[in-house]
Amino acid sequence: MAISFTQKIARIPHYEAGAASVDAVEAEVATIAMLASNESPFPPVEGVIEAVRGAAGSLNRYPDPGARELRGAIAARYDFAPSGIAVGNGSCEILLAAAAALLEPWHEIVYAWPSFSMYPHLAGITDARAVTVPLAEGWVHDLDAMLGAITDNTRLLVLCNPNNPTSTYLPTEAIAGFLEEVPDHVFVILDEAYIEFQTVEDPDTSLDLLRRFANLAVLRTFSKVYGLAGLRVGYALAPEQFRVGVDTVRQPFTVNHLAQVAATEAIRHQDDVARRAEWNSVERLWMEEELAELGFTVADSQANFCWVGLADLDEGEVMRGLARAGVAVRPGKGLGDPGFLRVTYGRRAENERFIEALRDCLG
Ligand SMILES: *Cc1c(COP(=O)(O)O)cnc(C)c1O
Repeated sequence: MAISFTQKIARIPHYEAGAASVDAVEAEVATIAMLASNESPFPPVEGVIEAVRGAAGSLNRYPDPGARELRGAIAARYDFAPSGIAVGNGSCEILLAAAAALLEPWHEIVYAWPSFSMYPHLAGITDARAVTVPLAEGWVHDLDAMLGAITDNTRLLVLCNPNNPTSTYLPTEAIAGFLEEVPDHVFVILDEAYIEFQTVEDPDTSLDLLRRFANLAVLRTFSKVYGLAGLRVGYALAPEQFRVGVDTVRQPFTVNHLAQVAATEAIRHQDDVARRAEWNSVERLWMEEELAELGFTVADSQANFCWVGLADLDEGEVMRGLARAGVAVRPGKGLGDPGFLRVTYGRRAENERFIEALRDCLG
């Protein structure tokens, strides 16, 4: 007997994990260069590992449902009211909760495309209508077109900055000008999963926007620069009402104890965050030079990954060539734009493997 699911389940897109594209057995190498998921190639800092070890003995207890220590540490880091800080089992959970809290089936959600592969789920789980706005030249958000896409039914708009998968960045000033024009009935989520890697301005510049706009949440994560993807913790800085709304639609113990402890410790190590961002800039420059030398077009990256145009190379063939060399990257086909690759910056040896494998694809 077939299980009879709701109709909307057929409209929820399938998420394909990055490493699935390469099988170590099929690849002719012992290790896979994991350049597919925008993770940090570095383990969490020692203090965080220690804190997790120390917390393991109390796992018979449920975590603090209010995540007070973690929210307090985030509040201290940003000088922001704890009442407006929502934490989630990854920032993706906050995105999904925001959709559940804000969107009725007759509402619309606006976001750019290609952008983060999770956004189509927000419409999928709520039955709201997804309104996607193609990126402008240079693979950046087309803010004017996004304004034009807003209707009376729009309730949620998501900006991804730097944008995943295209790595491009909009300065805070451009976003401020945009927010001035967004009507009050639209709530805006500024998804800044990669903000620590951009070198255009101080990564905290965008937080000024929260003081100016009451319809805005800034979303950040411990999964990328902090190297805690395996624990899933993200947070939103937002009006208190937003935090209450997303907390209402979720289970109470959503961020587990180890994740709370690890993130609380990790945010105290801002010197390590800065060091990792600097390391990332070095790898970014190296990759850009190597790719340019091979004749590839690359978007102007302000993230820990790049968006590489394949010109007349066949995407499938390139993916197979990279897989044989044990290099996992993301094909543009699955991300909304065939003919591109999204490549995470790994350690230098991994980046070299990618470049060598790509050189081989050129024949
Ligand atoms: C990785 C990523 C996230 C964060 O994921 P979580 O692990 O759920 O915190 C959020 N937004 C974008 C655009 C991402 O690329």
